[in-house]
Amino acid sequence: MYKGSVAEEAREVLRAIELIRLGARMPVLERELALSRDRIIRIYRETKRALPPKGALPFSTDWYFARLPNIHASLFYNIYLFLRDEAKCSRFDALTRAYRLYLEHCESAQIERVLSFTRAWSLLRFFEGRLLTLTRCAACSGRFVRRMQETHAGSPCLMCAAPPTTLPGASGLAPTRVANNTSPPVAIPA
Ligand SMILES: [Zn+2]
Repeated sequence: MYKGSVAEEAREVLRAIELIRLGARMPVLERELALSRDRIIRIYRETKRALPPKGALPFSTDWYFARLPNIHASLFYNIYLFLRDEAKCSRFDALTRAYRLYLEHCESAQIERVLSFTRAWSLLRFFEGRLLTLTRCAACSGRFVRRMQETHAGSPCLMCAAPPTTLPGASGLAPTRVANNTSPPVAIPA
C-alpha cells in the first residue's frame, strides 16, 4: 500500500505512465517512483499491454563515446540543462521534456533516434555521479559530453573531429544547435 496522500499517489501514477510511454524499463521506474514494484508492474501492463522487459541498466560510460551516441547524448543533455537551469523545470520534468524534445528533433530532422530513454536516463545518472561532464568544443564552441578526467582544453567535439560526409544521420544535428544552451532547439510542449 502507498503510504503518502491520495494526491501524491495519483501524481506518482501519472509520472509512472509518462515514463513508461517514453520507454522506461523496470529498474528506471523503481528508482524514479515511490511506488511498489507490484504497483509499477500493474501500471506497466495496463499502459503497454505487456510485461516489462527484463535486463540490467548500462553500467559503463563507454557507449557514449562512439561518434553518433556522443553527438546525440550531447544534444539531449544540452536540452536537459536548458530546461533545468533556464526554464526552471524540476529534474523529472526536465528529463521527460528533454527526451520528448530530442525525439521531436530526430523526427523533424529525419534522423535515426540513437538515444533510447534508458540511455538518456543513464546519461543523467552518470552526470549526477560526476563520471561525465560537458566540455566546450574548440572548433564550434558547442558543449559536448566528455569523461570527467578528460576535460583538457582545445579538443574538438566528435562532430567537428570527423568530416561531415562520414557522419550518416548527423546532418540534422548542426553544431550550433548543440552549442546554444540559452534557447531550446525546438518548442517546449505544454
Ligand atoms: Zn564542435
